[in-house]
Amino acid sequence: MNINQITMYLHQFKGTELRSNILDELSKLKSIAVNQGDQEEAKNIWCLEQIYKVKNHFLSVYKNLVDKEFFQAWCELERADIELHFLRMHLDYTGNKYNLDHIEKNLNQLPKLFPYKYFSSRESIVKNWTCSICNNVITLRNSCNHEVGEIYNGEQCCRIAGDIEFQAVAIVTDPFDKYGVLFPEGLEYNYAILENLMQNWTSPWEKWEYQISRDLIAEYNGLGRNNLCLCNSGIKYKNCCLKTGKNLHDHFKFLFHDKDPKDITNHAKQTFNSWKN
Ligand SMILES: [Zn+2]
Ligand SMILES: [Zn+2]
Repeated sequence: MNINQITMYLHQFKGTELRSNILDELSKLKSIAVNQGDQEEAKNIWCLEQIYKVKNHFLSVYKNLVDKEFFQAWCELERADIELHFLRMHLDYTGNKYNLDHIEKNLNQLPKLFPYKYFSSRESIVKNWTCSICNNVITLRNSCNHEVGEIYNGEQCCRIAGDIEFQAVAIVTDPFDKYGVLFPEGLEYNYAILENLMQNWTSPWEKWEYQISRDLIAEYNGLGRNNLCLCNSGIKYKNCCLKTGKNLHDHFKFLFHDKDPKDITNHAKQTFNSWKN
């Protein structure tokens, strides 16, 4: 395939598996562009590579969700998000070019449906950084002419960390890298919300969205304001969970605007915890 054919292919693709030889073909075309000194074409090819990677990770997210491989799906989401972040600096895809708006929306929505709340985070000291383009060691005094994030010869410039000294592990709720999900012994995550979504989300390209409302937790139903609170705090409901909102939980409602209502599996309202009982 030539560049135009690959561009069209990636733009129109709505399948579940991308042709695996595309990256090889792009890599060959990029070498040619670089040898001809055509920086613009090399950068264009880099964008196509990124589009391929974003789509490929997104398709893996979907496949892993179908297979109930939820942590794998989580990691693929993070990878897709990182590749899309790099691409966004160099390509304007408004108007859902290459279906990237659709993917972006999914990358924003899906993580909120996972039960993960705590992560391990590594703290370490990087003793030296090198430029990925020229391999020069970068210090405060000694820099090169390459800008991080820019594309040179069809490759994105980044800083490579060398000589890393490990310091500590912290437990955090908003980690820089999201792979460090904690899996405490004896506890099992509850993926019920995702399982519900997957009963209706029948293609990676099908659109969906969700709404959240704050609903009363069933146990609090009918509890009088002046009664002792259910949480065993020893104080009145009105001064306790009614005040703090601990009597409420998020209720997720999935919407499939393009689906025939008769094809939608509806669920009775259920309450889930982050953990399986
Ligand atoms: Zn450099
Ligand atoms: Zn309470």
